[in-house]
Parts: sequence; structure tokens; C-alpha cells
Amino acid sequence: MRITLLGTGSPMPDARRAGPSTLVQADGLTVLVDCGRGVMMRLVAAGVLPPMLDAMLITHLHSDHITDLGDMITTRWVMSPGPRPFVIYGPLGTHDVVQHTLQSLTPDVGYRIHHHDDLNDGPVVEVHEMSPGDVFTVGSAQVTVGATDHRPVEPTIAFRIEAGGKSAVMGGDGIPCAGLDELCKNADAYVQTVIREDLVRLVPNQRFQDILDYHSTVQQAAQTATQAGVGTLVLTHYVPSMQPGQEGEWRALAAEHFAGPIVLGDDLTAVDL
Ligand SMILES: [Zn+2]
Ligand SMILES: [Zn+2]
Repeated sequence: MRITLLGTGSPMPDARRAGPSTLVQADGLTVLVDCGRGVMMRLVAAGVLPPMLDAMLITHLHSDHITDLGDMITTRWVMSPGPRPFVIYGPLGTHDVVQHTLQSLTPDVGYRIHHHDDLNDGPVVEVHEMSPGDVFTVGSAQVTVGATDHRPVEPTIAFRIEAGGKSAVMGGDGIPCAGLDELCKNADAYVQTVIREDLVRLVPNQRFQDILDYHSTVQQAAQTATQAGVGTLVLTHYVPSMQPGQEGEWRALAAEHFAGPIVLGDDLTAVDL
């Protein structure tokens, strides 16, 4: 199984980091988890074209995790040689967001159908709204849905993807909780979005301080990994943005609480399990 951090950014714009998106590949499996800002460019850089995706999983409906939904739907549609539904798994509320996105694409869909003789139907998106405890199959993978705690944002979910004898948890945003602990149990990898509390506290802006309420710190992610017996800890969605040369500092904070391999870095950082 290969995990590629397509976008390691956050809502704060960063010229070097795309928004949150992670690619998971295994034999018979290509799935995208979340579709933040610029995901399409990183997906192609990772060697995957949108029609190759078996499905997209969405952890929650915060804008930074779904900004490029319209691009993903449109580009998959126009690049597919024939009708091919785009399958999306997300929390309750995903169906509405997808419907509104499709509505916003109506003029473009009309232009393209009118212009191309071999294009007769608009994009078809198949949405499955999932709740903690649900289990489903994508390609060769079995996926289990777990609860996360990103309150006041609700509902939010995490995914445990099992394929080819390996398992990886996509933790999404949130603070440590029992649901996440359970989902991570003995996983080969755990991907968590993280913040640096020490750096966030230095910023004299209440709106920025508010994010401390509902995000795991680097240390908390490492503690969750240790408690759950995770093999490899993968950190992403760095807030504030991890600057060049700071990787060692972030890694050291995690290493205080987790003895296994820690993966972090720029967009397109990948780990093979
Ligand atoms: Zn969020
Ligand atoms: Zn986020």
C-alpha cells in the first residue's frame, strides 16, 4: 500500500502546499481522501488521472477539504471515454453539497454537451453518506468508518482502509477521541492532520487561536499512535505551515511520544507500507 500526501496545506493559502488531500493506492485500489485546493495538479503529479480513481472519501465538509470538488467532478467527467459514475463516500450532508456543486456546474455541462457530439450526458455522481461503524468495499479494499471529534463541526468521520494485507487510517481533522483510538488499533499507518500549539499561541489573532479547540497537536497525534499500537505515523495539514528547514523540529515533537517511523514533508511525500 502506498500513501501519498497530495496536499499538506490548510485553509491558510500557501504557495508551496496544496490543500488537504491524500492518495491511497494498493493492488486494485486507487482512492482519494478529501480534495483540497489544487488537488488535481498534485494527483496528476502522482501519476493518477481522475478517471483512474475508484472513489473519493470525504472526512468532513469543512471548505479546505472539499474546495476542489467541482474540478474533480468536471475533470473526471470530461476525461472519461464513456459514462462512469464518480463514487463519493462522505458524512451526512455530503449529498446536499454534491447536489449544489453539480448545480453550479450546470452552464458548463450544457456548453460541453452542446459542443461535443460524443458527449450526451452530464456527470453522474453516486454519493454514499456514511456513519461511524459502517463498512464498505472500494476496489480491493475494505473500508471501516469511525467517529472523530472535530466539534463544533459535525458530523465528521475517519476511514480505516484495508487492502493487500495492510491497513491505514485517515484521521481527518479533530482531537483525540475513543472512536479514533478504536479505528487506529494496530493499523500499519495513521495519517493525522496536525497543528503546532506552541506556534499558534504566538499569533495574536482570536480567529486563529480558535483552531486550538478542535485540532490534534503534533504531540496528541503521536500519543494516539502509541496508544493504538500504530506502525507508522504520517502527519499532514500543517498549521501553521511547516517552513523549509522546520521538518526536524516537527518530527522531534512527535518523537517525544511515538517511537516508530514518522513521515512528514512537502506535497507528494509518499510512504510505502
Ligand atoms: Zn476541519
Ligand atoms: Zn482542515
